[in-house]
Amino acid sequence: MAGSQKESYKKIFAKIKEHHTWFANSIPLIASENIPSPAVREAIVSDFGNRYAEGWPGERVYAGCTYIDDVEFECIKLAKRLYKAKFADVRPISGVVANLVIYSAFSNPGDVMLAPSIPAGGHISHGKKEHSGTAGLVHGLDIEFYPFDAQEMTIDVDKTKKKVAELKKSGRLAKIAMFGGSLFLFPHPVKELSDFLKGYGVHINYDAAHVAGLIAGGRFQNPLREGADTMTMSTHKTLFGPQGGLVLGSEEHAEQIKKATFPGLTSSHHINNMAAKAVAFAEALEFGKAYADQVIKNAKTLAVALSDAGFKVLGERRGFTESHQIAVNVLDYSDGGKVEADLEKANIIVNRQLIPGDIKAGRNYFHPGGIRLGVSEITRLGMKKDQMCEIAGLIRQVVIEKKDPKKLLPRIKALRKNYQKVRFCFDDKLGAYEYVRLR
Ligand SMILES: *Cc1c(COP(=O)(O)O)cnc(C)c1O
Repeated sequence: MAGSQKESYKKIFAKIKEHHTWFANSIPLIASENIPSPAVREAIVSDFGNRYAEGWPGERVYAGCTYIDDVEFECIKLAKRLYKAKFADVRPISGVVANLVIYSAFSNPGDVMLAPSIPAGGHISHGKKEHSGTAGLVHGLDIEFYPFDAQEMTIDVDKTKKKVAELKKSGRLAKIAMFGGSLFLFPHPVKELSDFLKGYGVHINYDAAHVAGLIAGGRFQNPLREGADTMTMSTHKTLFGPQGGLVLGSEEHAEQIKKATFPGLTSSHHINNMAAKAVAFAEALEFGKAYADQVIKNAKTLAVALSDAGFKVLGERRGFTESHQIAVNVLDYSDGGKVEADLEKANIIVNRQLIPGDIKAGRNYFHPGGIRLGVSEITRLGMKKDQMCEIAGLIRQVVIEKKDPKKLLPRIKALRKNYQKVRFCFDDKLGAYEYVRLR
């Protein structure tokens, strides 16, 4: 027998608590994650999460939305200010849903979309039907990949122009050009390609899921100024959380986007998370520049330290990274899957990563050639240069020197001792990983 439901009930909370303790004593380096402030967590547990508010604020199809509307107007205002955008829809509940909003608003099933392939940094939500990618599987888009320059680690501009002209010739001109990605070290050539693509009438979307916080801080490219028509994102990677999505654009695209979001792709838009997004946007307006600055400094420092420690860090020719991410080829030691597992035993949390050349060499997602590291979370905890160097040394001990990961745990606990609060926020009363009991 599997035990009573009361035992399960207790076990659930025990496991969540163990998770909190684990993360408080770990080096969290997942590039798509961050740690929200106590203020964002407070909004998430509010009663807003139990309500419906379908429609646009002020024009809802539900009663009881008085205060929700006030907060959503505030949220829209802050999102527009943060990205200097004319229009913002804060309702998409995730980055994938935000991308689906764009597909639905600006293309039809059967249309072609230009997007980065996954080893070239693309996200599965840009992917083909045969890979169960959202664009192909859910909206029936026919995906063509950008030509990619693996030395420069970005989209190849000249080859892309050629490809677009060829697609046009064969009657398969792309309806949407999708920029942005998940392995994302350097800005994409939006400025270089936007006039060209617009000449063909292609809708340009920039998926800022990973770099939204860096763009907000003015430390990455500025897609809406460089010619992107619309921009989608997750609100929790380099932005300050909660998990959610956002679509930005101009007035011209507003009606199509609104209809695609509701009723097209949401019913409840998770109102508590909408309120938490508003809090995060306010934090980003106040602290975003200083944060983005430190994130990029830390990423560069960690990349150099890893390279000095003997690792093959990608993007060397261009200084390794201009974002929060670092990608490392680990094939000299084993593969990305094994390295991920070994590091986890030392409480160093990274993820395995397909890198350029993997698919051709027959490697797959379970045993890819690389790992990806992100410094968003450890930067939000206040870590700087010295800690980056120490972390690179710890990773070296596990992966290159093959030390027993368990032996490193006390050092990692000591390293975390002074970094238990969320920085770059208005109120820091609650600890970053402090467990809150409400029962
Ligand atoms: C993470 C990611 C997404 C998906 O975002 P969710 O909020 O998890 O749905 C979309 N696009 C890119 C490029 C991403 O990296």
